Amino acid sequence: MRMKISVTAAGFAALLAGAVPGPAAAQTGTTLDIYVVDVEGGNATLFIPPSGESVLIDTGNFAPEAATRDAERIAAAAKDARLTQIDHLITTHWHGDHFGGMAEVAKRIPIRDYIDHGPNIQPVAAFEEFFAKTYPALYGAAKHTIVKPGDTVAVAGLDWHIVSAAGAVQKTPLAGGGGANASCAAFKPQDPDPTENAQSVGSIVTFGKFRVAHLGDLTWNKEFELMCPNNPIGTVDLLVVSHHGLGVSNSPVLVHGLRPRVAIVNNGTRKGAVPATMKTLFSSPGIEDVWQIHFSQLSGQEYTVPGMLIANDTDEPLAAMPIQPIAAPAPGPGTPPPPAHNGPAYWIKISAQPDGTFTVTNARNGFAKTYGTNGRRTN
Ligand SMILES: [Zn+2]
Repeated sequence: MRMKISVTAAGFAALLAGAVPGPAAAQTGTTLDIYVVDVEGGNATLFIPPSGESVLIDTGNFAPEAATRDAERIAAAAKDARLTQIDHLITTHWHGDHFGGMAEVAKRIPIRDYIDHGPNIQPVAAFEEFFAKTYPALYGAAKHTIVKPGDTVAVAGLDWHIVSAAGAVQKTPLAGGGGANASCAAFKPQDPDPTENAQSVGSIVTFGKFRVAHLGDLTWNKEFELMCPNNPIGTVDLLVVSHHGLGVSNSPVLVHGLRPRVAIVNNGTRKGAVPATMKTLFSSPGIEDVWQIHFSQLSGQEYTVPGMLIANDTDEPLAAMPIQPIAAPAPGPGTPPPPAHNGPAYWIKISAQPDGTFTVTNARNGFAKTYGTNGRRTN
C-alpha cells in the first residue's frame, strides 16, 4: 500500500510556477516499479504497481547482523516507494539467504500476507526456532497462503501467476505460452537436487505488455520439467536471474526459452554470476543487456558486464579486477571470506510502462537505459 500524496495549496502553486518536484512527487504512479535490492548474494525483490499494492519476494540473509543489514536495505527501498506496508510477501524457499531477514523486515514495516510453498523439506537446527515460533507468530497476526502452480496472487493492476512451488511446475500454458521450446533437444540433466532450491516458488508477472520472470533458486532439472518439451510461459522482457547466477540453475532451456531482453543477476561478491551462466545469458537470443548487483570474482573481467551496469562495489575496493575468473575456494574453516560489503548499498530499479517500455536504473551511478517498444517481443 502506498501513501497518498496530498498537495498543499502552496505546493500546488509551486508546481504551477514550474518548481521541480522532489523525488517522491516525481513518481507518477503510472509505472510498475521493481527494486532489486542488494542483499549480498541473497534475494529481495520489491514490486509496486500503480495501484500501490506491493509484493516483496524474499527478505535477505539470516545471520543476525546480516538480517538487520538486509532489512534496513529493504526498508529503504520500501521508503523510496512511499510504502506504508508490504501487502504480500512471497518467500520462495526456506534457505537462509531468502527468508533470513523476515522478522527484521516485519519490525520495520507491516507485512499483511505471507505466501510460501509449504513446510521446509530440508531441516536445519539453526532454523528450528524460526519455524516453531517466529514464523507462526508473524503470519498469525496477518494472512498465510500456501501456493501451488496454477495459482494466482491477487494484486491490483498485475497478473501474478505461480508457475512452480514445492517441486511441482506449471504445465498449462499461460497466455502467450505453449509453443515448442527449441532448446530442449540439447538439454543434459544434472544430478537430482534434493534441496529447498528445487521447491522454489516461481512467479510470472504481467503488467500490460511487460512481463517478468522470477523463479527464486529453482534448479536445472526443474527448469527442464517446467520448460520442456513445450514452454508454458512464452517470452519475458525481464528475467531476475535464478539462484544468483549459479551454474546449477539457468539452463538454456529456461533462459533461451524465455528470451529476456534484460537480465538482472542478484549475485554476491563471490557467489554466482559464474562463467557458465554468463555465457548462457550473453548468448540468449534477443538479449540486450545483463545487469549485476555486484562484480563477481567468479566471473572475472572475462565474463562480467561493464562497470556502469554493476550496482555495488565492496567496502575495500579491489585494486584491479582480474581478467580471468577466480575459482571458488573449497568450503571449510580455512576458506578466505569473500570481499565484504556492509557499507552503503545500491539497488537496481526497473520502471515499466503498460506498453512494454521499461527503464533500468543503477542507483549507484545514476546510469539509466530505456528499452523501447521496438524490441522483438510480440506476445
Ligand atoms: Zn539463494
